[in-house]
Amino acid sequence: MNLVDRFERKHDYLRISVTDRCNLLCHYCVPNGSHDCTSFHRLLTDDEIINIVQVGADLGIKKICITGGEPLVRKGLPQLIGKLKQIDGIEDIALTTNGVFLAKYAHELKKAGLNRMNISLDTLNEEKYTRITRNGKLQNVLEGIQAAIEYNFQPIKLNVVLLKDYNVDEIETFLRWTMKENVQIRFIEYMPIGDQQSEWSNQYQSLSIVEDVARTIGDYVEHKRQQMAGPARVYSFQNAKGSFGLIHPISNEFCTSCNRLRLTADGHLKSCLFWESEVPVKQIAYDKDELIEAYKRALFLKPKNHEMGQSLYQQGTPTTRVMSAIGG
Ligand code: SAM
Repeated sequence: MNLVDRFERKHDYLRISVTDRCNLLCHYCVPNGSHDCTSFHRLLTDDEIINIVQVGADLGIKKICITGGEPLVRKGLPQLIGKLKQIDGIEDIALTTNGVFLAKYAHELKKAGLNRMNISLDTLNEEKYTRITRNGKLQNVLEGIQAAIEYNFQPIKLNVVLLKDYNVDEIETFLRWTMKENVQIRFIEYMPIGDQQSEWSNQYQSLSIVEDVARTIGDYVEHKRQQMAGPARVYSFQNAKGSFGLIHPISNEFCTSCNRLRLTADGHLKSCLFWESEVPVKQIAYDKDELIEAYKRALFLKPKNHEMGQSLYQQGTPTTRVMSAIGG
């Protein structure tokens, strides 16, 4: 059986949130400054995650991204990645991290077989970084990025959520970075997940502005889309070492090619980032037949479109989870 939904979309990508705790509290991710974290006994255990992935791999999951909260606050993460890497059918494992603990773990992650890394970095200004993360230190992330470069995670993707009054003035600096370093800067449109309608309305910035700035820097070309590529459209300037990507969930909906399922830290399969519908799997994590049914049910519940832009003005955000509880 393949994981094909009602709209003929084939799913081969599972994003796994291994914890909903985070050492940072970014405004756009945890809008109220805190959220109720899942108690430890209700989190999925390593063995439960491995079983759920094993069944997913039998059904066609090939690519995994480990996310959170901050995945590196989960004890034993490199060991879990090492075990996931051994599952037949899993070809690629990525990690999405805020990078703060990377200098410490990059070596172990490499040894465990992690293939790729996405590191969140919304600004290169120390004061702004501390403000948006509510307590982070920019230097820790920069050291993490250096460690990722040293251990040869290629390409290193840096996620920049674009916020109107906050980092639009840094677009040029980020773009110029791609000229001299083999990094991929991925600009992401701010999404209204959780309870943050008014903040979203004030700070949302369409990514067309990135292309406006890019044109003032020089000629750039779009890369051919790779197999299993994510939703980013990727471009490079002439003779640049790196590239830049645009992820437009709002202004250029990518739902028609969505190949993702999500597993929350408290054990729910979620087929759309924005919608409430979820299928509980913690209680059935050791029952293969029940898990197959749960994957089918999650696919059945997947809507055609997330409708983020529209529903914002109609009924608010359908999902009650904040982004750090879903994993992005
Ligand atoms: N802690 C890790 C990190 O910082 O990358 C992983 C979890 S975080 C939820 C995953 C990604 O979601 C990050 O790149 C973050 O910038 C992005 N994100 C969080 N809230 C968002 C929002 N409201 N709109 C767009 N992206 C968001």
